[in-house]
Amino acid sequence: MSARGASQRSVLANGPVEDPAAAVRALGAEGQAAGRAVWRLAALLDAGFLAAAGWDPVTWVLAPPPGHRLIRRDCGRLDGPASQDVHAQRGAPPPVLGPGKCAVVACLRAGQARRGRHEPYCRVHATRWNAASQADPALDERQWRQIAEPLPVSGQVNLRGLAPLVVVEVLYGLQQRAAAQCTSYCRFLRRLAQELRQARVCSLADLPAQDEPVRRSLVNSLLAHLGRAFADPRTEITKDRWDLTVLGHHGWLTFTGISQGWLRESAKRWAAHDLPRRRGKQAGARLNEIVGAVARLSSALRASRADHGEDPAALGRADIETFLHRLAFLAADGQLSAYCRTKTCQDTGRVLAEIRALGLTRPGGPASGLAQDFTLTAGDVPAKPDPGEPGRDVPAEIMRQICGHLPELEHPVSSRETRIAVELLMDTGRRPAEICALGWDCLARAADGTPVLVYDNAKAHRLRRRLPISERTAALITEQKTTVRQRFPGTPPARLVLLPSRRLNPIGSRPITQDNLIGRHRIWLNTMGPLQRADDTEYDKSLITPYSYRHSYAQRHADAGIPIDVLRELMDHTSMDTTKRYYRVGEARRREAVDKVTAMQFDRHGNRIWRQATALLDCEHARYAIGEVAVPYGTCAEPSNVQAGGGACPIRFRCAGCDHFRTDVSHLPDLTGYLDDLLRTRERLQAAIEGVDEWARADATPSTEEISRVRRLISRIKGDLDQLPNAERAWIDQAVTVVRKHRAVSLGMPVIRAGRPATEDIA
Ligand code: SF4
Repeated sequence: MSARGASQRSVLANGPVEDPAAAVRALGAEGQAAGRAVWRLAALLDAGFLAAAGWDPVTWVLAPPPGHRLIRRDCGRLDGPASQDVHAQRGAPPPVLGPGKCAVVACLRAGQARRGRHEPYCRVHATRWNAASQADPALDERQWRQIAEPLPVSGQVNLRGLAPLVVVEVLYGLQQRAAAQCTSYCRFLRRLAQELRQARVCSLADLPAQDEPVRRSLVNSLLAHLGRAFADPRTEITKDRWDLTVLGHHGWLTFTGISQGWLRESAKRWAAHDLPRRRGKQAGARLNEIVGAVARLSSALRASRADHGEDPAALGRADIETFLHRLAFLAADGQLSAYCRTKTCQDTGRVLAEIRALGLTRPGGPASGLAQDFTLTAGDVPAKPDPGEPGRDVPAEIMRQICGHLPELEHPVSSRETRIAVELLMDTGRRPAEICALGWDCLARAADGTPVLVYDNAKAHRLRRRLPISERTAALITEQKTTVRQRFPGTPPARLVLLPSRRLNPIGSRPITQDNLIGRHRIWLNTMGPLQRADDTEYDKSLITPYSYRHSYAQRHADAGIPIDVLRELMDHTSMDTTKRYYRVGEARRREAVDKVTAMQFDRHGNRIWRQATALLDCEHARYAIGEVAVPYGTCAEPSNVQAGGGACPIRFRCAGCDHFRTDVSHLPDLTGYLDDLLRTRERLQAAIEGVDEWARADATPSTEEISRVRRLISRIKGDLDQLPNAERAWIDQAVTVVRKHRAVSLGMPVIRAGRPATEDIA
C-alpha cells in the first residue's frame, strides 16, 4: 500500500464510504480527481494532532478531550437549534455500525426492534421521517437519509454524511488553525457540519457564503489554510490576488483593480520584484497602496481612451496629463486628500520607471512598445504641504486629566492589558506596535542597577533596544509579569508576552493587537467628559491617539532641557532631523537659544562683543527672531539697509569691511560657505577666460583682504568655541540648531539691484 493510500485509510477508515477507492472509481473521471485530492490532502494530516483531537477514523466523529486547548468542548451546553432538541445527548452514544445501524447516514444509533421486526430507523429518526414524509409525501427517502441530522452530542462533532474531501478539508483546516494557536469551538463546528451536510457539497469551497459572522470567519479561516496547503510562490504570483502569507508576508495583494492586461501583468512583475525587499507587517499594506495608485492610473486610462488603454504602444504624455488632471479634480472635489494625491503620483511614477528598469517594455515584454514619455517626472508630483511645527503632543494639563481616568480603562471599557499598554505608552514613548509586542521578559537592569525596557524597534529593524525607564514604570511591568505568569503557568517564559490577548490565546503567546488598542483607547476617551485646557476652552479629543504619547514623551524631555542628541537616542532615531519633527521649540526655548548664540557675538575684526545674554531687550529678541536686519552671514545695523529690509546695502555687501556688520556663532556655517565661495571664484577667474577685459576680471575677483578678513573671523569664532568646556559647547551647538531652524529670512546672498543709469551719466 502506498504511503498516501495508507494515510487516507488511517484518516477515513471504515467510514460511510466503506471502500473509498472503489467508490471514487465508480464516480468516473470527476470522482477520481476528487479522490486524488483527498489522498493528497490526507497526506498532510498529522496523526498526532488527530489522535490528540479525538478523531475517530471509524465513526468520523471528532470528540476532543475536555483539556484540549485549541478545540474547545461545549461545557455541557448545546447552543442554538441543538439546545431545543429534546433528544440532544449529553454523553457519547454507543456507536453502531453495520447491519443494525439506523438508516440515517449520520446516525450512530441502532435501528428499532418492534414486535420482533427490525425497523430501519432509530426511535428519533423514525419520528422525524414520519413527520417529514407527512409534510411532503413526494420526499425522496434515500436522499432524506443522506442529509438527515444526527442527534447532537455535547463535546462532539459528527462529520458523517459529508463528502470525504470535505471531511479531510475540515480536519486539515483545524490542524492548521491549531498550529496558528487559533481556538475552534465544537458548537460552531457542529453547525458548520450541519450546513455542509444539507448543502451536499463536494468541497468546502462550494459552500454558499455565510451570513453569520462567526461561521463566516471560521469558513474563511479554513479555506485560507486549505489554499496554502499546496501553495507555491511561483504559482501564487501568477494569480490576480496574492496570498502574501505564501510569500512570507501578511494579508493579500489584489491586482483586480487594474483592468488593462499589460498594466496588470507589469504591476505583478514589479510587485514580485519588490516584495522580497520588504520586511515587517506593513509590507503588504504598503504594496497595496502602490498597486492602488496604479489602479487609479488604470481607471483614468479606461475612462479617457477609446481603446480603454489596452494598447501600451498607443499611450503617451497626453494620457499622463489626463491622469494628473483627474487626480487634481478628485482632490479638489474632496474625494482624494492632498497627501494621497501626492503619494499616488509618486507611487505611479515609481512603478512606471521601474517597469522600464526591469525590461518589461522590451519587445516581448508585457509593456512592449510603451513610449518613453508615458512617465511621471518630478515636476508632475504636487509638492507636499509644509507640515509646520510639530504639535501632536498632548498638552500637560490634558495629560493630567487623562491619567485621572486610567482606572476606567481597565473596567468597564477594556482589560487590564489595555490599561497597562496605555500607561507604558505614556511612560516610555514607544510606538503602539512596540508596546503591544513586548515580551514577558522585557525588563532588565543596567550595570548600575537602574531599570531598562528591552523592546524591538520593528519599524527600523533594530532589535533588543534598551530604554532607561523609571522605577515606577519598572514596578508596573513587574506587577504585570506576575499576573501573566499566574494566568499561564504552563507556558515557557520565552513564549509569553507581557500583554496577552484575552481572546484565542490559550498559551499566552498572542499579544493584544495594535488595532484593538487603538479602538479601546478611542472608546475610553469618548466615555470621558470634556477635557479642559488651561484657558478653560475644550480640547478636541480626536487629536489624541496612542501615538500622541510618543510626541508627548519627546516634548516632555525637550522641555526639560535634554540635549537633542540624547533625545535622538531615547527616541531610537538615526537622524536628528527625525527627532526634531517630534517636538516644538517653544518661545521660551527659542529665547534661551538666542541668548546663548548672541552671547558669542563678534564684530568684523573678529573681536568678541561681550554682553550678558540676559541683558538682551525684548525688542532685540524679536528682531533677532524675525531676522529683520539679516545679511548673508550675520546682521547689519546700517539704517538705510535696515529700512530697505536688508536689500539696499550702500557698499555692495562688503560686510567683512563694514563697521555695521555683526556676526555670531550661529552664522559659522554661512561664513565657512562664503569663504569657500570666495576661494572658488578667485580660482575660476585666475584661469584664462576669453573675452573678459582685465579691469572686469580684477573687479570681479575677490580681494585678498576680504578673504583674509573672513578667514580670520572664522578662526576667531572657532577658537572661542574650542575654549569652551564640553558641556557648554554642547549647549551652544543645540542653541545654534534651534536658532538656524527658526531663522525666518533666507541666508542666501541678497540680489544687488542694478542701479538705473542716470540720464546725465548717459549723456
Ligand atoms: S556691508 Fe553689510 S553690514 Fe555693511 S551696510 Fe552693507 S549689508 Fe550692512
